[in-house]
Amino acid sequence: MTTESGVDRALLAGLATRERSVFAQRRPRSAAAYQRAGHLFGRVPMTWMNKTAAGFPVYVERASGNRITDVDGHEYLDFCLGDTGAMAGHSPAPVVEAVNHRLATLGGATTMMPTEDAAAVGAELSRRFGLPYWSFALTATDANRWAIRLLRAVTGRPKILVNSYCYHGSVDESLIVVGPDGHGVSREGNVGAPVDVTATSRVAEFNDLAGLERELAHGDVAAVLMEPALTNIGIVLPEPGYLAGVRELTRRYGAYLINDETHTFSAGPGGATAAWELSPDVLTIGKAIAGGIPIGAYGLSAGLAEAILGRDDLDLVDMGGVGGTLAGNPVSMAAARACLEQVLTEQTFDVMIATATAFAGGLRKIIEGYGLPWSVSQLGARVEYRFADPVPRNGTESAAAADAELEDFLHVYLANRGVLLTPFHNMALMSPGTTTADVERHHSIFADALAELTA
Ligand code: PMP
Repeated sequence: MTTESGVDRALLAGLATRERSVFAQRRPRSAAAYQRAGHLFGRVPMTWMNKTAAGFPVYVERASGNRITDVDGHEYLDFCLGDTGAMAGHSPAPVVEAVNHRLATLGGATTMMPTEDAAAVGAELSRRFGLPYWSFALTATDANRWAIRLLRAVTGRPKILVNSYCYHGSVDESLIVVGPDGHGVSREGNVGAPVDVTATSRVAEFNDLAGLERELAHGDVAAVLMEPALTNIGIVLPEPGYLAGVRELTRRYGAYLINDETHTFSAGPGGATAAWELSPDVLTIGKAIAGGIPIGAYGLSAGLAEAILGRDDLDLVDMGGVGGTLAGNPVSMAAARACLEQVLTEQTFDVMIATATAFAGGLRKIIEGYGLPWSVSQLGARVEYRFADPVPRNGTESAAAADAELEDFLHVYLANRGVLLTPFHNMALMSPGTTTADVERHHSIFADALAELTA
C-alpha cells in the first residue's frame, strides 16, 4: 500500500530489513564496542546516541574535514557534521593549532580568569550579529537558559513564548506544543518537567502572527524565544512579513525577542539575523562557533545590558542562577577566536552556500524524477527534505509529515554506501571542505535508493 510519503510500505519494510542486516554484518567492531559499554546508561555516552537507524551506533575512529572513519575502517562523507557542531569541518587546522597552543604551550584549561581571546570573540560576534555585549556558556542550552533568566528578571514577567515543535536544547520552558484544541500542552515525552509547562510558557505556531498576538495579549510574556527559521522539525522558512510582524508584536506587547541562531547560523556569517536584517534584543548561539569545542554565547542589546547591570538586587556574580565554572574558559575562547577569524569567514560561507544550493537543486530534480510528493528546503549551508509537498509552513504540519521508517531506511542505505546524514533529520550540512563531487556522490546513492523504493 502506498502512503502519503508516496512509498509502498511492504516494499519499504523489506528494503529496510535488508539494509539493517548489511549494516550490522559490516560493522562487527562497532557492534562489539556497543556490547562492551554495559556501564553506560543505555550503553551510550548520552542517551540520544541511541537514535540510530540500525540498532547500534557507528563508533568513530578518526574525523577530518568532512570525512569520518569508523572503527571498522569504513570512510564516510559526513553531511551530519555533529548536527552543526562541526559545521567548520572536523578539527579545522586553525582551531587545532589555537587549542594546542593554549593547552600545550601556554597551559591552563580552566582558571577562573579571563584570557584576552574572550574580548576578541565578543567583538567579532558583535560585528557579525549586531548586538554589542556578549557573555559565554558551554552549550547553547545554557545560553538560552541564562538569557531566559535575565529577561524574566528585567521584565518581572513569568512566561516564555516559543514556537510549536521548536527545539532550543533541554530548556524546560520550551517543551510545549500547540495541542489539538489550539492551546499549549506539554510536549510528548517531556522528562520530569519541574512544573506543568503551561505555568511557565506560551506557544504559537511558526508563521502565525494572529496566534502570536493572541498569546502575547495576556501581558505575561517576558520573551519570545525563537529560531528565525525552524530547523529541528525539518526546515520551516519564514513567510514574507512574518519576522517583521514578530518584531512589531513583541515590541507592542512589551516582550523581548531572543533569536536562537545555533542552527540558523548556516544562513551566513552573521546567521539569519544579519542575512535578513533582523533586530532581536538577545541572540543565543553555540555549537559551531568554536569549531567543535564546547561553547555557548549570548549577546544583549545596549539598553538591555544597561537595565540588567543597573539592578543591584540581581546576583550576577555568585549564586544567582546565571553562570557556570567552566564558561568562558581559555580553550573555548581560543577555539572560537580561531574558528571565527580563520575558518567560518565571509568567504567560506559563500562557498558553503554555493555547495548547498547545488545540493538542494540536485535533490529536487531526483525527487521530481521519481514523482515523489516530497519537498526540499535550504537555509544557507543547510538543506533538508520532508516527506510532504507543498513544504510544511509550521511545526505541527511538519511533524505530521514525519515518516520514521522511511527516514531510517534512507539513513541506513546511505550509511551502507559511505554517506552520513544527521540522525534526527534528513538534513545535510555543507562544511567549508564539502565539494560538488561529494554532493554528486550523495545524489547518485540517493537516486539509487529512490529507484529501489519506487520499483
Ligand atoms: N538551540 C537550537 C536551535 C538547537 O538546535 C540546539 C540543539 N540541537 C540547541 C539550542 C542546544 O544545543 P546544545 O545541545 O549544544 O546545548
